[in-house]
Amino acid sequence: AFKKAKDKALAYKLVMSEQLNQHIRYTKEIKQALINNDFELHYQPQFDHLYNMIGAEALLRWNHPTRGYESPAVYIPIAEESDLIIEIGNYVLEQACRDIKRLRQTELPTSFQQVSINISAKQLVKRDFVTNVISTVSKYQIPPSSLKIEITESIMIGNLEQSITGLNTLLKFGVACAIDDFGTGYSSLAYLKRLPANLLKIDRSFVTDIHLDQSNKAIISMIIQLAKSLSMEVIAEGVETEKEVNCLIELGCYKFQGYYFSRPITFDKLLEYKH
Ligand code: C2E
Ligand code: CA
Ligand code: CA
Ligand code: CA
Repeated sequence: AFKKAKDKALAYKLVMSEQLNQHIRYTKEIKQALINNDFELHYQPQFDHLYNMIGAEALLRWNHPTRGYESPAVYIPIAEESDLIIEIGNYVLEQACRDIKRLRQTELPTSFQQVSINISAKQLVKRDFVTNVISTVSKYQIPPSSLKIEITESIMIGNLEQSITGLNTLLKFGVACAIDDFGTGYSSLAYLKRLPANLLKIDRSFVTDIHLDQSNKAIISMIIQLAKSLSMEVIAEGVETEKEVNCLIELGCYKFQGYYFSRPITFDKLLEYKH
């Protein structure tokens, strides 16, 4: 039994050091990717129930020289453990504003309102975050209302007061704010009321097969009512089928993002899309 435990401990150690190695390797590669300019922003268009394009979400893509495109779900959590997420965040902000400027120089459909970017909790509590957003928007001379930031409920965990103050400043400046992955975190309604956000994004986990799942239907219906009473808008994420669209419309949600409408596309494709 002792030998078994020892073997187990050894195996555990091996797994841990393998993970650690991979972690260190990734961190080095992310640094290099920032230097090499290997990150890109792709855009996933968002639509209303009349199929007008109303905006797009910027999604980070790492064009890795050998691995190709890899999901941010893999490397964002690693970047979040160091200040690399700040550097990545700065790239995203700068590139998105640059792209918004170019979008505005082409013929936009009047329904197109905003580009949204994802902000990690660590970025949000950085002292210069708000001034950074304001100065970048000003530098590219784009209307503040053409940018939206997406945050998750996890910001409730720490530095809540500081986050609310920062978000309020941005809101006054004109930048909009969305709560991402709504329903998956642990926010209390009291917190939600205090958050200066204009949009709730209903998480994909509730949207998938909604027409077959009574409890998901009930949850989405509740989220829509909640948003209404807080004067917030709602958009459904991860919409993949027509059945889901119809069910969402029945429940009172008229904004959509998901593969049914469009996968994330390159900026050049987004420019073409509108014509
Ligand atoms: P998210 O913010 O919830 O983004 C939505 C994710 O769902 C994207 O994955 C998108 O490609 C995917 N998606 C959209 N429609 C559908 C659909 O109909 N079906 C399915 N199965 N998936 C759909 P992606 O691009 O891999 O991003 C994963 C996560 O990485 C994002 O989740 C976000 O949390 C994070 N992320 C992405 N870009 C950035 C960024 O620039 N900064 C930060 N901090 N995080 C980012
Ligand atoms: Ca998002
Ligand atoms: Ca989301
Ligand atoms: Ca997510």
